[in-house]
Amino acid sequence: MQIRALSKRYNWWIGFVAVLLPLAILLGLQYRWLRQLDTFSERAHKAQVASLLEAVSKNVEYSYADAGQVLDLQPTVFTQHQLDRAAHLFKKKGGVVGVTRLFVMSLRDEKEPLFFTPAYATFSQPEDSPEARAVSVAVAPWKALYHRDGVLEHVRLFVEEKDPSYRILLYPVTDDSSRLVGLAGMILDERYFREKVLPKAIRDALSELSDRSEGPIISVEDSQGRIIYSTDPLSDTELWRTEARRPFGFVFTDWSVALATRHATAAEVAHRNFAVNLGLSAALSAVLLCGLMLALRYASREMKLSQMKNEFVSNVSHELRTPLASIRVFGELLRLGRFGGVDKAREYGDFIETESRRLTQLINNILDFASIESGRKTYRFERSDLREVVEATLRSFEVRLRKEGFRLHLEGIDAPLPTVVIDAGAIGQSLSNLLDNAVKYSRDARDIDVSLRRDGDFVVLSVRDHGIGIPRSEQRKIFDRFHRVSTGLVHDVKGSGLGLAIVRHIVEAHHGKVTVESRPEEGSTFSIHLPIEVSEPVALAAPAPREQPSEA
Ligand code: ADP
Repeated sequence: MQIRALSKRYNWWIGFVAVLLPLAILLGLQYRWLRQLDTFSERAHKAQVASLLEAVSKNVEYSYADAGQVLDLQPTVFTQHQLDRAAHLFKKKGGVVGVTRLFVMSLRDEKEPLFFTPAYATFSQPEDSPEARAVSVAVAPWKALYHRDGVLEHVRLFVEEKDPSYRILLYPVTDDSSRLVGLAGMILDERYFREKVLPKAIRDALSELSDRSEGPIISVEDSQGRIIYSTDPLSDTELWRTEARRPFGFVFTDWSVALATRHATAAEVAHRNFAVNLGLSAALSAVLLCGLMLALRYASREMKLSQMKNEFVSNVSHELRTPLASIRVFGELLRLGRFGGVDKAREYGDFIETESRRLTQLINNILDFASIESGRKTYRFERSDLREVVEATLRSFEVRLRKEGFRLHLEGIDAPLPTVVIDAGAIGQSLSNLLDNAVKYSRDARDIDVSLRRDGDFVVLSVRDHGIGIPRSEQRKIFDRFHRVSTGLVHDVKGSGLGLAIVRHIVEAHHGKVTVESRPEEGSTFSIHLPIEVSEPVALAAPAPREQPSEA
């Protein structure tokens, strides 16, 4: 029982924690996964970039793959002085593209390099030139090797780039016993490399890339850092963000190929994705929490409302039963003729009349509330004299006030007032409700002031008591259906919690407003403000009820 009461009391928090906890765990897990994904995608991208640059470098190497075939001369060219065979071969290969010079050198005869002249298909001794000197420098180590023992086990292409103006490919020629006999070589054409080899190598590498949406920029820089080639036609290098760089592996090894992007680097994209994903999750959670809070709020309101309805039923039953019992007793006394005299009979009659009026008012309130709730409440607006309505209502209260010892003070009742368009019955009922409350909540005070005055475009009807008053925090809520102030002495006073809700509905249907000024222990003033100028009598159907259950 205790657990039930506790869970009822803290249901809001229990529901909140029950959702918040798994949500927090889920968010935490998601954060971890997203972090991992972030790291993995960054690594994967780096690997992809590295392999792309590697592919460019390899493609460059493949472009010179047939250089080895061209330079792979038979040893007999040198051992049997068959230079014309070499010349024939070089000529057959069509002069070999991407090469400015082909040359051979016999190591056996210790001759100097001979340059190939494609036009005559012959070899000749070059004149002294930077080119000839570069070749001499390149072949020098081979001469030394030849003099040491001259044996070379693995024959392959060698690259000599000491002088960047003359990049030389050298192919050592060996005889059957792996002894060096000569060298064949070529000087590479830098322009051809730049204009033909590089673009093709980069194009081929990029074509293997599955996702080119981000549009990476591949560029090649020389040893001085000058951009020799780039895939970005605009070449606005200021905006480039270099992601990776590597030197060429075979020829042009002092040059490097780099990958850049113009927008964000892969790491930045990965981090951005991470932030976006996390932000989305957080937003989703926030929405979920808001939804939950709304649902819980709604549920707690509903609970409160049902609780208030229960209280209403018990209060109303009590309110009905007590006067009915008294009426029955006085009725019986009268029927049996058991009363002292005419004065006593009149007193009983007064009592029966007063209590019946109260019952009528209570039942009217309940019926009105039912029709307001179902949207069926209608009004009959007529141009009326508010003073008459007030006087009629006060008359009906006279007996009760007198009996309970109340002094009624009227103010402004004789002053001239403009007529207003109202439903006289409904406004009378509102005033009755206010007077009833003034009587109920006056405690020992016995003065009630009713005033009528004009305030701008409104006629204001006020009821003031000097009773228990209403705390500030409750002053808005008392107009909500079923709401009753739950502190102090109010509990001793029975009521339905409908009176003020009906007053507000009626007054708002008149395009007016009801206000309260009150201080605890000093009393309250309720005022009904009704507009004077209503050109058209307002709609007969009442607006939808606006009362909401209070949160208190
Ligand atoms: P009830 O039937 O409980 O009087 P009402 O809707 O008329 O219902 O009033 C709502 C609550 O407002 C009351 O329960 C009471 O707490 C408070 N209240 C209304 N009028 C007064 C007043 N004149 N003085 C003090 N409290 C008042």
